[in-house]
Amino acid sequence: MKKTISLLALLILFSCGKENVIPTDFTFNYNIHSSLPSEWESEFYTIMNNLDDKIKILPKDYSYEMDIYAWNSTADKPYKDQIGDDGGAMISGNRRAINGKYMVLEIPASEFDNDQMHRYSVIAHEYFHVYQMSLSKTFYDHDIELKWMSEGGATTIESMYIQQYYNYNYFKWDINDVNIAVVNTPSIYETYAASSDKDRNYSSSVFMLLALSKELQKLNYSEEEAFKMIFKDFWLPNPTDGNWKSNFEDIFSITVPDFYQSLSNYDLNADGTIDSTDLNSVLPSETILLQDIFTN
Ligand SMILES: [Zn+2]
Repeated sequence: MKKTISLLALLILFSCGKENVIPTDFTFNYNIHSSLPSEWESEFYTIMNNLDDKIKILPKDYSYEMDIYAWNSTADKPYKDQIGDDGGAMISGNRRAINGKYMVLEIPASEFDNDQMHRYSVIAHEYFHVYQMSLSKTFYDHDIELKWMSEGGATTIESMYIQQYYNYNYFKWDINDVNIAVVNTPSIYETYAASSDKDRNYSSSVFMLLALSKELQKLNYSEEEAFKMIFKDFWLPNPTDGNWKSNFEDIFSITVPDFYQSLSNYDLNADGTIDSTDLNSVLPSETILLQDIFTN
């Protein structure tokens, strides 16, 4: 009996102690495969350092470190033993386990052949999803989908990163396939299933997110403040699929139906279609800096 009690006490001690071991910095563990060009590898570390400097991921009790697995698509799933059949670019893994997630960066060989910016921008995209998870446990746990805010956010960050560090307007040249559904049925962009065939390169999700920034600027927020509210403040109260609309109204002082209605104000063609230039009406400033959005 005595033994049981002391064991129990030990267990309690152990579980209490555990809560105090959250490290002060979030850690990424790198698995960068030799199939990747050395130029990419060194740029990868530069990008991760820049992001860590500008968009700080805070360690949480549910997530304070993450493995990254990166390889060239020419290699045949070199990390099969660790991550099975996962490929492409994503945050994968056990959705509710502590530190159960990992980042997958399978870079298509064609992106090296064609010098595509995406081979670098994808790093910022996936990094931003980890940032979102650090703000919001509900996002970490997949209790909120809200694709246009989540993917629109990650894709906007990736575009801003490329704009800031490579002096290339990624919004204009790579995110330019907005679908007219953003005006006719914007709510389909709340889920992947309803919008997957109408959101190439997440252009439509980005259009909606950038339009929200414009609507906030009409309420006299600066451009940097508007993006901070969208990228950070919205996620902090742990919104869920069930309550995000009231959270949206609390944070932005705009109702979701009013916002969706406002999308038709942005630069449609006379025949009601949107063409490939239509991010033009919502493009952010070319001089906006990540560090000015994510201060505080
Ligand atoms: Zn994504």
